[in-house]
Amino acid sequence: MDNLTLNIPESNTIQERLASVHEKIALACKKSGRKPDSVRLVAVSKRQSPELIRAAYSAGLRSFGENYLEEAREKMEALADLKDIQWEMIGHVQSRKAKAVANSFHRVHSLDSEKLARLFDQARETGKGPLEVLVEVNVSGEESKSGLMALEPGSWPKILEIVQNVRALPRLRLTGLMCMPPLVTDMEANRPYFQKTRQLLSYINENLPGINLTELSMGTSSDFPVAIEEGATIVRIGEALLGPRPTKKENN
Ligand SMILES: *Cc1c(COP(=O)(O)O)cnc(C)c1O
Repeated sequence: MDNLTLNIPESNTIQERLASVHEKIALACKKSGRKPDSVRLVAVSKRQSPELIRAAYSAGLRSFGENYLEEAREKMEALADLKDIQWEMIGHVQSRKAKAVANSFHRVHSLDSEKLARLFDQARETGKGPLEVLVEVNVSGEESKSGLMALEPGSWPKILEIVQNVRALPRLRLTGLMCMPPLVTDMEANRPYFQKTRQLLSYINENLPGINLTELSMGTSSDFPVAIEEGATIVRIGEALLGPRPTKKENN
């Protein structure tokens, strides 16, 4: 019995892992006076096979997060019979892939420039309705991370301007913010970053008349309980739900 592995239980089935994640979501909600149904679960399926995603779907999961367009498209094709499956882009999107991303995904969490927003808006097929997007913000200041730099409140007016311009694009529907703080072993270490993201959301809502952003996409396997305590409405959980990821493919 190894207490260090308590965060990611060694259960073997997706059903067991899902039950455990639901339990932790409920606990974090209770602790912070929130309703458990105020948190939505995205299963991060990068590098996982279509077969595993199908099993996760059978266990009741419907939303799946992917980081790479090509990889996601293969899975979308293999799972095209699952009509109500929802695909969510959570990785950095290159300009040349904007068109395909805009029409293949239900929601994009990782909108990180106004330029990309305009490309999405131009590419989104009108018959599909507006593409839901979240603006990714970098609240921890790591240079390697994508997202609009938001570490210093001095940078927030600039973000306000971008949000306002994204809001004006008719084929996009901006609903909130996403953040991806460092991978940590102590989830408390990321609490300040989740707080900052929530503060930025309030700042935007207070300073842009008529806007009401509601979504906070934050929290992964290693820190989702703290993210929920700080207001996450969408958690993106990979390994705690689907098990360890196969090692990275060379061609990604
Ligand atoms: C991989 C990934 C996750 C999930 O990570 P886990 O540790 O497997 O829960 C969440 N968000 C983003 C952006 C990711 O790339």
